[in-house]
Amino acid sequence: MSVYDTIKKLKSEIPLHVKLVVVTKTHPAEKILNAYNTGHKIFGENRVQELIIKYEQLPKDIEWHLIGHLQTNKVKQIAPFVSLIHSVDSLKLLKEINKCAEKEKRVIDCLLQIYVAKEETKFGLSFEEAEGLLASEEFKQMKNICVVGLMGMATLTDNETQIKNEFRSLKTFYDKLQTTSSKLLTLSMGMSSDYKIAIEEGSNLIRIGSLVFGERH
Ligand SMILES: *Cc1c(COP(=O)(O)O)cnc(C)c1O
Repeated sequence: MSVYDTIKKLKSEIPLHVKLVVVTKTHPAEKILNAYNTGHKIFGENRVQELIIKYEQLPKDIEWHLIGHLQTNKVKQIAPFVSLIHSVDSLKLLKEINKCAEKEKRVIDCLLQIYVAKEETKFGLSFEEAEGLLASEEFKQMKNICVVGLMGMATLTDNETQIKNEFRSLKTFYDKLQTTSSKLLTLSMGMSSDYKIAIEEGSNLIRIGSLVFGERH
């Protein structure tokens, strides 16, 4: 199926309250344009360098999300244009985003990345760390960031029960935090291999790459 047809089909299949981020990492601009030409406007990259190149090459009404690990020294490069950072995993990083956003006279929306997988390689905060961050005075002082929700990745496994349990634990935590803040409206979970389970477990933002563009090489 073409990129065009896949996006149309995917959007017709997911519930209306679930937003789609089309993940463009490793794919060239012309291929991304095929996706853009379906009318889709939300794209995600996991590397800062690639994000900047694509931002420059592609139409300016694209809403760019950074979904991968972000180093503090790279924040200023994306601060002028990024719409949502999914991967905030420390107070230090959040402070830097706040500082750079202030210079740009913007408020940058962020998600806290929560570690729910059983893999050493995944980044993220524990539930306790996230609660501590949100309760801290330093966080409350920041005027140029807005934490709008949470992001999480399940373990890469064929064990659907495990994936389901990991997403469920994140959703439970998200529900708990929602009682303390009205701004937490986004739950980013689910990729090509597990988005159906993620939606069943309460995701409202899915990040899909290979299903749309084919396997990365
Ligand atoms: C690559 C990536 C995705 C998309 O993965 P696919 O399996 O290609 O859909 C989603 N989220 C993050 C953080 C990624 O790095």
